[in-house]
Amino acid sequence: MNLKEKIREIEDYPEKGISFKDITTLLKDGEAFHDMIDQLVKTIEDKEFDLIVGPESRGFIVGTPLSYATKKGFIPVRKPGKLPAETIKHEYDLEYGSDALEMHKDAIKPGQRVIITDDLLATGGTLRSTVKLVEQLGGEVVGILCLMELTYLKGRETLKGYDVKSLIQYK
Ligand code: IMP
Repeated sequence: MNLKEKIREIEDYPEKGISFKDITTLLKDGEAFHDMIDQLVKTIEDKEFDLIVGPESRGFIVGTPLSYATKKGFIPVRKPGKLPAETIKHEYDLEYGSDALEMHKDAIKPGQRVIITDDLLATGGTLRSTVKLVEQLGGEVVGILCLMELTYLKGRETLKGYDVKSLIQYK
């Protein structure tokens, strides 16, 4: 299935000049959502890993079905103040603005192999920050997987040395 056709582009959201890739049109199509997860699972079939890590909130939409399909645990990465137990924190730049991400301190054991996933790779700030959190706990990032990639923002360059995959590219 051509998943790109299912994604809606909203011009000038959330700011003038940004063409927002809206996956809600894909998600409400059950066949398309199912196929999206099948296609993502295929890209990590050859990997040995223990956990899937996803940043809020669309990283949960992509990550939790992947976790279910692969029978690997899911670790949520959240905006500050949202996780109830002891956390570690990393500050990062966004495509628009800046923010910080947190992860539970006991989420990952040293040496555990992790796949990080999100809906979209733009500048790479969010995924880089998630990598930092995983590595701070001694986890090994064996893959980074996104549904979409804005290749013209060259986010991949900020993730050099990691195996970065995306299903859909916008050039
Ligand atoms: P980055 O940190 O600059 O790579 O931006 C990626 C993050 O911003 C992801 O978590 C996305 O959910 C969000 N994001 C940026 N642009 C878009 C978009 O066009 N559609 C959906 N999410 C976006």
